[in-house]
Amino acid sequence: MTSQSPHVDHELVQAAADVARTRCRGDNHTMASAARARDGRILTAVNAYHFTGGPCAELVLIGAAAAQGVYELDTVVAVGDRDRGVVPPCGRCRQVMLDYFPALKVIVGEGDRMRTVPITDLLPESYVWADHRLDAEQG
Ligand SMILES: [Zn+2]
Repeated sequence: MTSQSPHVDHELVQAAADVARTRCRGDNHTMASAARARDGRILTAVNAYHFTGGPCAELVLIGAAAAQGVYELDTVVAVGDRDRGVVPPCGRCRQVMLDYFPALKVIVGEGDRMRTVPITDLLPESYVWADHRLDAEQG
């Protein structure tokens, strides 16, 4: 958490780290996420682990944001409990975040290698959901 990269939203990383440290409990909640909304607000969430496929912190975050009327996210980061630091999004979350927010930025890496990358860089040659493609063509 000590990277000096000018392109990393350290306040956002700290918000996720604070939630990971204070709110993650046992096996149910092991990851925290934070998003910077377009309006500057920071929103946070934790995962809801379940063996049937409980949602990651990033997916809970999307729903929690919508519940507060926030539908445009600028940057997202996830931090693990037990001082695991920044954790990159899993494959499912990469696809969901790309579909919801094609211009989203994601903070990845640790320490001096912490950096902000476009979601499209995390999912090259990505699948484009047919319904979204139709929406884009209709403009
Ligand atoms: Zn995930």
